[in-house]
Amino acid sequence: MHRWSAVFVISALTSAAAAAAQQASPGQLRPRPGTGRDPEFPPPTILDYQPRSTLIVPAHLVPRAKFPVVDFHGHPPALLSDDAITRVGAAMDSLNLRVMVNASGGSGDRLASQIAAVGASRYRDRFVMFTNLDLRNVGPGSGARIAAQLEADIKAGAVGVGEIGKGFGLSARKTDGSRLKLDDPELDPVWETAARLKIPVFIHVADPQEFFEPLDFQNERWLEMALFSGRRYNDRSRFPAFEELMGERDRLFARHPRTIWVLAHLGWHANDLARLGRMFDSLPNLHAEVGAILYDLGRQPRTAREFFIKYQDRLLFGKDSFQPDEYPYYWRVFETNDEYFDYYRDYHAFWKLYGMGLPDSVLKKIYYENALKIVPGIPRDGFPR
Ligand SMILES: [Zn+2]
Repeated sequence: MHRWSAVFVISALTSAAAAAAQQASPGQLRPRPGTGRDPEFPPPTILDYQPRSTLIVPAHLVPRAKFPVVDFHGHPPALLSDDAITRVGAAMDSLNLRVMVNASGGSGDRLASQIAAVGASRYRDRFVMFTNLDLRNVGPGSGARIAAQLEADIKAGAVGVGEIGKGFGLSARKTDGSRLKLDDPELDPVWETAARLKIPVFIHVADPQEFFEPLDFQNERWLEMALFSGRRYNDRSRFPAFEELMGERDRLFARHPRTIWVLAHLGWHANDLARLGRMFDSLPNLHAEVGAILYDLGRQPRTAREFFIKYQDRLLFGKDSFQPDEYPYYWRVFETNDEYFDYYRDYHAFWKLYGMGLPDSVLKKIYYENALKIVPGIPRDGFPR
């Protein structure tokens, strides 16, 4: 064949394939013979279809973390009675969770009662409390008042601020009825007080990006959004867009570079780690915590491994909801090279996970060293020196 006609044949094939790819639905690159044929049996729903995997590969369950762990994103039941503290503490023992940050410790009396109850228990060196700020009905003078409460809670024994919930930005209103923006200057005294006290501010901004998108069959989180009406933020007359919140957040961080920020849930950028990397590059005091995004790490084990090695000083372990049987999934993703194993929550992810096989030196930083560095108030006992 003449070389020009060979080129023509290849480009004709390529454009036919490209046209086919454009018509196909996601996940299908090209039509096959028989396309358009209907299944002989009624197709199962996405809830019904639970195929068993026939893949046989080495599997390494990890019931206990390899090194002692600080859970930076703890939401235990209220730590007000010896019974409750002992129940959570015993579960922590079995998982090698050495210290839990109570990110829903409250403020004022409620915070002080939990600090007192933990202090009187045999788990006294296993929990630390963060203070929760009340960011509802912010108006003139609120910033100074909230900053004073923050300082009083720190004096009472809290060792950080947070978790600041997603309601800040998504729904909290000011006294004038407008939405409280994340970078509202009224709150500047709060963030500057935290910077002066050198305590971390643990903040959850927005939610997974898909929750802000139309609920259609191309949405990765269709099932979760269909199950939980409170996770649909796609009505622009009620909620800001995802990128609007990200813009406010980025301006807030840029205006307070001395504040030690910790982004919950990797800032919801676990599906775009390069974006979080650019934030780390421009903000030396920014850290991020991995709660409830394991499904995103476990589907990109090579990219995630590289990212965790590059930013090993900026990442913290955190779990979010306290379900003791879910922690071992995290240990397995971080510590092993296992392939194609189940995640624990089908409405987060309909796919399987793969292990990242992190080196020990990186595991130690993520499990406890970074947390001890940015939270001097965490007791050091029980961690390797
Ligand atoms: Zn949380």
